[in-house]
Amino acid sequence: MSAHGSFVSDNEKYASTFDKGHLAIPPAKKLALVTCMDARVEPLSQLGLNLGDAHVIRNAGGIAQESLRSIVISQYLLGTREIAIFRHTGCGMLTFTSEQVRKVIRETHPGNDAVAHAVDKLDFSEFSSLEESVKADIQFLKGNPLVLKETPITGWIYDVKTGKVWQNSSSKITR
Ligand SMILES: [Zn+2]
Repeated sequence: MSAHGSFVSDNEKYASTFDKGHLAIPPAKKLALVTCMDARVEPLSQLGLNLGDAHVIRNAGGIAQESLRSIVISQYLLGTREIAIFRHTGCGMLTFTSEQVRKVIRETHPGNDAVAHAVDKLDFSEFSSLEESVKADIQFLKGNPLVLKETPITGWIYDVKTGKVWQNSSSKITR
């Protein structure tokens, strides 16, 4: 059975006790969190945040550059004033290179020039070090003219084996 088969019945249960309809659009904690799409990462509960507290911007790896469009909207239109990069151990982004992914995709579509051409232009933004990738993302955001100048930007790593979070050691850099 598809995952969506239980959506309706499970949502009925959720909605039956729902009491958050009063929440405003701007995140209450003025926080934008950039994190990975990994199914084991659930930043609200892992960081003690509640529904309505933060923007959670997700993509494969939680790459800041890919999140920039959302960060700009978050800051300029919805008032967030703090950014946290939230990476995790065991991230899939540590396990491949862009060229390996391109090869898999090309081999899935043998002889398909449109696929080959499209995939050549796609950068999968993999990384080989969690700490260094967090640091690089913070530097990218601090150096980007679209990110508001006084924004505190911190980096965090979540351990998928223990549930523990720590601040990235190399993330405490000044502008
Ligand atoms: Zn990940």
